[in-house]
Amino acid sequence: MPTNQRLAEMIAERRLDELDDPIWDGIAEGCFPLHQCGRCGRHYWPASSCVEHGSAAMAWVPSSGRGVVHTYVVVHRTNNPDYRGDTPYVGVVVRLDEGVFVHGALADPQTQVAIGQDVSVVTDRTVPGIAIPRFAPVGDRTREEAHEQH
Ligand SMILES: [Zn+2]
Repeated sequence: MPTNQRLAEMIAERRLDELDDPIWDGIAEGCFPLHQCGRCGRHYWPASSCVEHGSAAMAWVPSSGRGVVHTYVVVHRTNNPDYRGDTPYVGVVVRLDEGVFVHGALADPQTQVAIGQDVSVVTDRTVPGIAIPRFAPVGDRTREEAHEQH
């Protein structure tokens, strides 16, 4: 499982965007919150406003933590020194059930992954005191495969 010490340090030091802080707090508490427009209900990765309703209030709400793999890449070598100790890892873009696209990594780089694979957020606590969101497969089928069987 990739540990990415640098990301853990950034979370610990709160050097990421302050707008993101509730997500990191939520992950530490075992959920994955998203921003939601108070007018239309659209969910967002932290956003200062809704693209349709700029003046509407945004609220933090828990997400399902579930989604599907939109795309992925298996990284064997990287030029980023912060990630060199973590290869190989599987970088994923997940479309959460709420419609939000999230970049991340699979918890286990040995996991077989496919586009359309059901995944859920899991919490990586390999760095003491830090909670990092990762994704893990749910079940053994992709949604497309399940659909084809009906
Ligand atoms: Zn809206």
